[in-house]
Amino acid sequence: MSSGHEGMLTLTVKMRVSPEPSSLQALLDLMRRYKEALNHAIKVVIENKALSLGKAHRLLYKVLKKRYYLPSKVAQDCYREAIAIAKSWLSNPNRGRMPRAKAPRIWLTNKQSYRVKNKYVELLGGYKLEIVGWDKRYDDYSNGYARLLFKDGKFILEVSKRVPKLGKYSPSGVLAVDINEKEIVIGNSKIEHRFETAIERALHYKQLAENLQKRHSSPKYNAWLRRRGIRRRMKSFHRKARNIIEDWVKKTSHEIVSLAKQHQYAVAREDLTGLVENLRKLPKEHKISLLILSYRRLEHWIDWQCEKQGVPIAVINPRSTSSTCPICGSKLIENGYRKLKCIKCGFEADRDTVAILNIEKKAHEKMGGSLTTPTAPQMTDVIPNR
Ligand SMILES: [Zn+2]
Repeated sequence: MSSGHEGMLTLTVKMRVSPEPSSLQALLDLMRRYKEALNHAIKVVIENKALSLGKAHRLLYKVLKKRYYLPSKVAQDCYREAIAIAKSWLSNPNRGRMPRAKAPRIWLTNKQSYRVKNKYVELLGGYKLEIVGWDKRYDDYSNGYARLLFKDGKFILEVSKRVPKLGKYSPSGVLAVDINEKEIVIGNSKIEHRFETAIERALHYKQLAENLQKRHSSPKYNAWLRRRGIRRRMKSFHRKARNIIEDWVKKTSHEIVSLAKQHQYAVAREDLTGLVENLRKLPKEHKISLLILSYRRLEHWIDWQCEKQGVPIAVINPRSTSSTCPICGSKLIENGYRKLKCIKCGFEADRDTVAILNIEKKAHEKMGGSLTTPTAPQMTDVIPNR
């Protein structure tokens, strides 16, 4: 096992902060102006491809100061943030509408426009905010840029931290990950675990939002469109659904990667890009959108956890992982609900077990001779370990 640090990872630590009552209104006004200024800057940066600081400065600096009354340093932070947002939007092949900031906010450069001191955050301009609560695990790492947001009546400071990555060990085997609508199955030819997905739980809240909308709709008068309270409740149901998925994905990816580390396995996951693209072509139903969200976030968090914990990872082409016999390579046939069978060699197993064994096999091929070849037993006697 190699030791020491190999590169850095960026993570975001969120803290609740609370401004002094006497300066609350002035700060909130500044954050509202910043939000408007940022949306203007994003538009200008994208339309003029002004992705360098020099070009953005020439196009925006004066406008941001004069029209939006931003102090000089804040105006600079503003086009800097606009460039960062524009870059990430332009690099996304599935980008939708131009990104827009919705909540009042302000971007802050460490030491120049903010600093954390004891239990307070001090901002340029003399604002002082008390830190109400934060994640102390990352206190030892230095702060990067930060973002102060005003959301649902609360001030949240998001501070970026640079955390060293752990060196990766040479794996003694592979832990394959397979996901379907209902379950995540992880394992290899020796072990198998199954976790329920959070899709059904999240779907419940999507349905609550929809019922609320139906109850307040009529052909003559769509009350739900007009009444703010109803719209707000619908929004909070949708948010709850997304939070359920996000929490579950974080927790599950942590469990999977920790288990791999404990056994000194590499993690192997399928590349789900194609699957997600196919889902996008389907009608926009709640379930489909939750599946897309789950798959994308799961890929992100598994990879992130692997980087953080120093676990090697292999990303596998998903082609025919659930239709080929992992023993002899023949095409499998259906043999009852989610069950598959090989006519040539007699192997039979459930669809997810087949996928796990094929992902393991492909990972071994991909990672080369650093691993020993597994011997796959008949999987019919495996009891799913829940
Ligand atoms: Zn076979």
